Amino acid sequence: MATNPHAERLARAGKELAGRGVDALLLGPSADLYYLTGYDAPPLERMTLLVVPAQGDARLVVPALEAPLAREHLAGLDVEATPWNETEDPVALVRGALDAAGAAAGRLGVGDRLWSAFLLRLQAQLPAAEFLAASAVTRALRMVKDAAEVEALARVAAAIDRVVDGLGELRWAGRTEQDLARDLDRAVRDAGHDETCFVIVGSGPNGASPHHVAGQRVIQPRDPVVVDIGGRLAGYCSDTTRTLVVGEPPDGFAELYEVLQDAQEAGCQAVAPGVRAAAVDAACRDRIAAAGHGEHFIHRTGHGIGLEEHEDPYIVEGNDEPLAAGMAFSVEPGIYLPGRFGARIEDVVVCTETGARRLNTTARGLRVVDG
Ligand code: ZN
Ligand code: ZN
Ligand code: ZN
Repeated sequence: MATNPHAERLARAGKELAGRGVDALLLGPSADLYYLTGYDAPPLERMTLLVVPAQGDARLVVPALEAPLAREHLAGLDVEATPWNETEDPVALVRGALDAAGAAAGRLGVGDRLWSAFLLRLQAQLPAAEFLAASAVTRALRMVKDAAEVEALARVAAAIDRVVDGLGELRWAGRTEQDLARDLDRAVRDAGHDETCFVIVGSGPNGASPHHVAGQRVIQPRDPVVVDIGGRLAGYCSDTTRTLVVGEPPDGFAELYEVLQDAQEAGCQAVAPGVRAAAVDAACRDRIAAAGHGEHFIHRTGHGIGLEEHEDPYIVEGNDEPLAAGMAFSVEPGIYLPGRFGARIEDVVVCTETGARRLNTTARGLRVVDG
């Protein structure tokens, strides 16, 4: 049983709950549920809820028609599946599980992604309970990746890097962003991902909007183009950004890009165990501010990544969380000049005892593609 990573995670969850004075977790379909059990439950209007008490075995309350699939994933785990039929009330079963654990009037951590439709029903039938966000418990578990998770992140990062390596083979000028995005969506899947999660293609002035969605703009010669792409492989996410230029860079772009590359490097160099997350943000931001572009770096430096594209730890001013070996996150400073262009460089890194290990390793220098 010790070889089942989910059994070990459930045991750690129990300890974490006890240590924080939380009596049980209530998790719907989510990365938390998948992390703890390996069951990738579909988000449905019928309630699926994992009850993890601080003491004793977990129980999965699951719609009867989903139970066979759930049981396959729970094989080998001390998690009992409790199916409910169409005319039964699943909340009564949840309540029963909590009663058995002596937690019905306790402190309950509800999944951050649990739909309000379910939470409202739980609150109505558990009037004596105190509800808090499950992430108070689960972030501590999920933030530090184990060796197998780091390997999964490295594998999916290598897949997205293959897409980046092929960017020069695409035709850029004269095509719409959406056209390019369609090619990239296919390339992400062809490179080995199970699915494409997002494709950002921000050309010319659109590159100044960090989360611009690929649109109808036709890419012009001399446009910088921000390409931010990510997908999922075996549950784990990739996320990388490169900015390229179609032919000759516009005035001022090469200088701005040099500042950005220097800042991104400084951010990666700042990563080490014990360093505050905010210090990595500051390392990037200070370089950009020193070059006079402080007000053009309009977002945090990065976000944790794993089973979700964005998760703890956030690399942002004010986050004094000390980094630890095994934490995985993006370092993605950007400089955005409204009405002109933008640029961003993003790598996923893992904090190790000896500093940052970059999982994305494609060239970071200013990259010119054919007009
Ligand atoms: Zn983002
Ligand atoms: Zn990204
Ligand atoms: Zn990102």
